[in-house]
Amino acid sequence: MLPLSPSPQLAPVPDALDRSHILALLRLGDFSQDSFLATDSAGIVIYLNRSAGRLFGYRNGSALHLDVGVLLPEIRRVNERLGSLGARNSVLWRGYGLDHQRGALALVGAATHIPSPTGDSYLYVMRERRPVAVDRGRQAELASLVYRNTSEGMLVLDPKGFILDVNPAFVKLRGRDAGEVVGRHVRCLNSPCHDRDFYRAVWRTVMATSSWQGEHWGQHANGELYPEWLSINTSFAEDGQVYRRVMIFSNIAEIKQAEAIIWKQANFDRLTDLPNRQMFHDRLEQSIRKSQRSGERTGLLFLDLDRFKEINDTMGHAMGDELLKEAARRLSGCVRQSDTVARLGGDEFTILLNDIGDPRDVERLARSVLRQLAEPFRLGVETVFISTSIGITFYPDDATDAETLLNNADQAMYAAKAEGRNRSCYFTASMQEQAQTRMRLVNDLHLALDRQQFALDYQPIVDLSTGRIAKVETLLRWHHPILGRVPPSEFVPLAEETGIIRTIGDWVFCEATRQVAHWRSQFAQDIQISVNISPAQLRHEGLDHGFWRSHLDTLGLSPEHVIVEITEGLLIDSDDNHIQKQLALFHEAGIQVALDDFGTGYSSLSYLRKFDIDFLKIDQSFVSNLDTSNPDLALCEAIILLAHKLGLQVVAEGIETQEQHRLLRAAGCDYGQGYLFAHPLSADDFAALLVGDPALIPTP
Ligand code: C2E
Ligand code: MG
Ligand code: MG
Repeated sequence: MLPLSPSPQLAPVPDALDRSHILALLRLGDFSQDSFLATDSAGIVIYLNRSAGRLFGYRNGSALHLDVGVLLPEIRRVNERLGSLGARNSVLWRGYGLDHQRGALALVGAATHIPSPTGDSYLYVMRERRPVAVDRGRQAELASLVYRNTSEGMLVLDPKGFILDVNPAFVKLRGRDAGEVVGRHVRCLNSPCHDRDFYRAVWRTVMATSSWQGEHWGQHANGELYPEWLSINTSFAEDGQVYRRVMIFSNIAEIKQAEAIIWKQANFDRLTDLPNRQMFHDRLEQSIRKSQRSGERTGLLFLDLDRFKEINDTMGHAMGDELLKEAARRLSGCVRQSDTVARLGGDEFTILLNDIGDPRDVERLARSVLRQLAEPFRLGVETVFISTSIGITFYPDDATDAETLLNNADQAMYAAKAEGRNRSCYFTASMQEQAQTRMRLVNDLHLALDRQQFALDYQPIVDLSTGRIAKVETLLRWHHPILGRVPPSEFVPLAEETGIIRTIGDWVFCEATRQVAHWRSQFAQDIQISVNISPAQLRHEGLDHGFWRSHLDTLGLSPEHVIVEITEGLLIDSDDNHIQKQLALFHEAGIQVALDDFGTGYSSLSYLRKFDIDFLKIDQSFVSNLDTSNPDLALCEAIILLAHKLGLQVVAEGIETQEQHRLLRAAGCDYGQGYLFAHPLSADDFAALLVGDPALIPTP
């Protein structure tokens, strides 16, 4: 509260007046328009006139005995000022008071301090400060300008809901002339999209709170419906009665459309129009919640098209896209309306099945999906065949949350692929265990190199014509601190998936070449080292050939003494050009290349011509069956013949018996490897063998 300085107009209270005189005078104040208030020295209200009662909202003197701070929260500061001025002086002040119904009141007034032997008192006179007078004419002009020119439709109602006026925007929005609606009840604008309860609730809210706003479907005179944002407000007369209600309509069709597009983009796959990963997750969560309530199962199928990548690579992405679209159509045709088919990305799809009564229904569905997708796809002039692998899992049988359920389905799908593709596979607990073991192994694998848990074994490759060791294959060993020896068939694929194989592969190469350089110098042996490489080492940016070459230089080992073994799968699964370049780099460096496990993959002899290959290693599965009555012998003979014609030499893997040895020699096979000659050996044992040789198996 702001005390103004003592005003010259305010005369000091004359000495002759004592408190009783003053109170008698005050009584006259009941007839004043201004508000009078007197307190004792403690600030307790001892008097207020009628006008003050009205001002603060207290009837019949009920404000008597209140602390003045309740009515004038800041008045004590004025009192302090009065105190500093000396007795019987007055000050003007401006500040606020509190009406316990209307809240704060802007006030202006005067105060005076009256000392008295029977007790001091304070006297305050005040009135409400009125806002600066406004130019009503100008205000009305501005309002009308807005009303006529705004793009929002506006409509003015009388208190009973009859339409008094509409603005031009309303006429345009609804396609109705003012004459058509003015004078009618607002009910005539009700749209068929909302029922009577809706409008009743709206108007009930307007009555209670004087306003309402929300979405509403408006109807154009031509019958067209459109979404609008509707707000209803009330204007009151001076006496507090409803004067007018104003309705404002904004067309939000465009906003809604944009919202719908954004929503669709966020939740649906653009290519196939199927729900995307995001939407699928929402639906999966929903299904799980539904299952929790109903006790019925939810089924989840995870699908991955087999060899889609090859089609995409060979026929082009446009064709790949067509195939995915058609696959999506077929999948959608296999399921009920209540089920969800989603595309997670690439060639991965999921099917979510609600309320499964009988799990055999899922089996039937999976079979129908396999059948549907096995039908030929006609893409332009081409006809393409694909198949699919499906993993199946159930809630709540296999998992209790969405993420685990999806993981399970994914694992089951991988199992279906591993079992030969074009089939479905159920998730089992053992798959889960396998997955956990894999995860632990991957973790341990990351540490294995640093902790020196890797070692190399060496297995001799024997020249079949002399029986002497000509080459040696390096075989990687992992001594796990708890699991003991982990076979390469278990950890190499993991190392490939996680990319650790690159580091491990470099270590194998360095260690193996160091070892052979040592043996060559120590025992003056003419021996070649053969190192297995994983396809993963050649993909993407490929091997660090510079590093390999400089390592050989440091060792003083000529590259001709090194062979790399690659598996046939590498040639099938990869981009031809890239692999051709990688293999050419070995040749440029003088390193030879062997094609490992020949016969287990696609065994396309065209690869042998296309790529720079020096040796072919016949897989042990052929060798183990060899005898004179077996067709595998004819096959081995044919491979050897062909390889020789193409200028390649042949190594037979897995020779375990004299008979196999004899037959292969007779067929003209150049080299042999297997337990018959030696098992994979430690470096020391191999060195001993090397020294003890001249011929491991004396040739007959
Ligand atoms: P691979 O390159 O075909 O190696 C030959 C496999 O046959 C070795 O198994 C070897 O121990 C086994 N073997 C040798 N002679 C006989 C025999 O007479 N009878 C039988 N039944 N088996 C025989 P291993 O050591 O378990 O290696 C398996 C595979 O792991 C290798 O097949 C190779 O693909 C991979 N591997 C091994 N070391 C490395 C490596 O350093 N890097 C990469 N990327 N892969 C490796
Ligand atoms: Mg090998
Ligand atoms: Mg092999």
